[in-house]
Parts: sequence; C-alpha cells; structure tokens
Amino acid sequence: MSWSAELEHVSKSYGQILALDDATLKVGKNEIFTLIGPNGSGKTTLLRILACIETPDNGNVYLHGRKIDDKNRDKAKLNTTLVFQRTSLFATSVYNNIAYGLRLRNLSKNHVYSAVKRALRTVRLEGFENRLAKKLSGGEQQRVSLARALALDTSLLLLDEPTANLDPKSASLIEEIIKEVNQEKQRTIIMATHNLFQAKHIGESAALLVNGRIIKIGTIREMLTGESGELAELARIENIFSGTLELLEGGTSRLSLENGILIETALDREGRFSVFISPEDIIISKRRLESSARNVFKGTIEEILDYGSLVKLKVNTGRDFIVQITKRSFIEMGLNVGSLVYLTFKASSVKII
Ligand code: ATP
Repeated sequence: MSWSAELEHVSKSYGQILALDDATLKVGKNEIFTLIGPNGSGKTTLLRILACIETPDNGNVYLHGRKIDDKNRDKAKLNTTLVFQRTSLFATSVYNNIAYGLRLRNLSKNHVYSAVKRALRTVRLEGFENRLAKKLSGGEQQRVSLARALALDTSLLLLDEPTANLDPKSASLIEEIIKEVNQEKQRTIIMATHNLFQAKHIGESAALLVNGRIIKIGTIREMLTGESGELAELARIENIFSGTLELLEGGTSRLSLENGILIETALDREGRFSVFISPEDIIISKRRLESSARNVFKGTIEEILDYGSLVKLKVNTGRDFIVQITKRSFIEMGLNVGSLVYLTFKASSVKII
C-alpha cells in the first residue's frame, strides 16, 4: 500500500501544553481518514503539522513517502491544502478568492480561469464568480473555502471541521462534495470532526484523539464496540448513547440507558446499540412543549459554547445532551448557565451509529 501521509512518534508542545503526544499514523492513498476527538484533543495541531505549517518538536512526517525536513518543507507545503475551521475569505469577489492561491503559483491566466470554473462547479457555486465572498451565507462561504483548496489540485486535502457551525442542509451538501472529490478526483482527505455520525458516514478509518494522544485507530464501529474507555471518550464528543433497544408496538423501539433514562426511537431493532442525536435536531424551550415529538427531558444548562452565529449548550438531564441553536434564539430566550430547560426531539431523530 502506498501512503499519502505518515506520522512517526510526532509530538508538539505550545509552552507547557503538550498538544500532540507521540502520534503515529498512516493514511493510505485516496483514503478519507477522520480525526475525531473532544475540544482541544490535538486534531488541529495534527492537521497543521501535516500541512507543513507547524514543525513538530519530535518525530518524523512523511508525505507521499518523502520525509519532510527543513529543506523541503516549503515545497511540500505547496502539495497539501488545509481548509481551516473558521473560514476567512478576502473582502473581494468569489473569483478572486479562489484564484488567489493559483496566482501565487504564477499560473497562466487561462489556467487560473479554468481551475476556478472547475472548482466552482464541484462545490455547486457556478455563477457566483462576481459575488462578494463576504456577503455569502456561512454554508456558501465554506464552499468557497473548499473551492479555493480544490482549485490548487493538491493530492492531499486537509479539512478542519468543515461543517462545524453550519445548518444541516449546508453540512450535508459539503459532506456530499467531500465524498465526490475523494471518489471522482482521487484525492486523499484527512478531516477533523466532532460529529461521529459524519465520521462514520464519510470516512473509512478514523483516529480517536484524547489529550493529544491517539488512543485508537480503526473504524468508528470498532471504536463503538471496543473497550469501554474508548466508548466513554466517544460519548464525551456529542450525544452518543449506548443501551438496549426494546421493540414497542407500532414498529418503534425504546432505548434504555444504564441510569434509567429512556429514549424512544423509530428504529425497528432489538439488542445493544449505540445511537446518536444530532445537536441541531433537539429543540430547547423554557416550558414543556405540546408536540408530537416522543422525547422530552427536563434539565439544566451546564455549559455554553460560543461558535459565532451558533451556540452549543451542554444540558444535564441525568445525562449530558449537546444542543445547537442560533445565537439569536439563545439571546431572545435569555438562557444562561443554570437555566432550567426542556429538550424535545422526535423518535426519528435518533440514529444508529
Ligand atoms: P478543537 O476541536 O477545539 O478545534 P483540537 O482537537 O483541534 O480542538 P488543538 O487546536 O490541536 O485541538 O489544540 C490542542 C491543545 O493545544 C489545546 O490545549 C490548545 O489550547 C493548545 N494549542 C493549540 N494551538 C496553540 C497555540 N498556538 N498556542 C498555545 N496553545 C495552543
């Protein structure tokens, strides 16, 4: 097997913080590999090292079989592209944003033109050339960032949480584009994500990072059926619950968690399963809602994470749930740490991992 990217005992510290601790990893050619882990676990640091933006303190990095050193690092940098978590587009047209990196490489005008057009087609933004990039929606801006990376035509594409802070429709469009780029254009993709469901859906193999260490490499399914320690780490990521599904009348089922919490699902299954509920599928309210949704829990907000136009809330109902709402709703509802809230979600929002 030929490898697109390899890390051998790579470590990186920022002052006292050991951001990456003895990481060893191999990613095959044309693979989609996901890095999964809680906040601050070292995913971005690992991507920055692979992008040659960051130099490791110890260990070796190989890209396409070639060991990276001080002499070839700048050249290697041109063969990988990192799409950052927080998009920062230039205050100019979509065309200029995508053409920027190509112009830096002194490519001809014709080459730049056709590469920009091709990239726009891939990200479904044909006709957006003259639009002002900063005026586009969050999802469109993220697709421009992706187009900017795709236009460079590098064989290794690094994506840092490409769908974080996007609405579900924009997120699934980006997932579709990522899969297409991998399959049709034969690119190796290494992607950091918080979203286990996404990791399982898009990627083949994954590395689970905790506190800068890679604690497991394998498929998400292997991690979910593996040691309980791994499962506990995965559960810290977002709304993953493991329990026993019991069939109910009418083709639905109920998942019993260890501490007596029951989640109703539309799954026609029985036995031990791990399920995932997307944070944007959970409605938060100050009063109990009258609705057809089968799951209602009362809880207290324990943590508030600000993601710009979106806010993630950790709500303890006996188990922690992560809920994602817009900043606008959050302000209008006057929520704060300690607020008592109700969480409501449909049985059909519960997905098996
Ligand atoms: P997130 O999911 O929040 O993006 P992550 O898994 O990508 O997190 P990193 O961004 O790699 O994690 O951070 C790993 C650790 O290194 C964290 O404790 C972070 O605060 C720290 N860190 C990262 N970059 C720097 C820096 N430039 N200076 C100081 N500390 C840093």
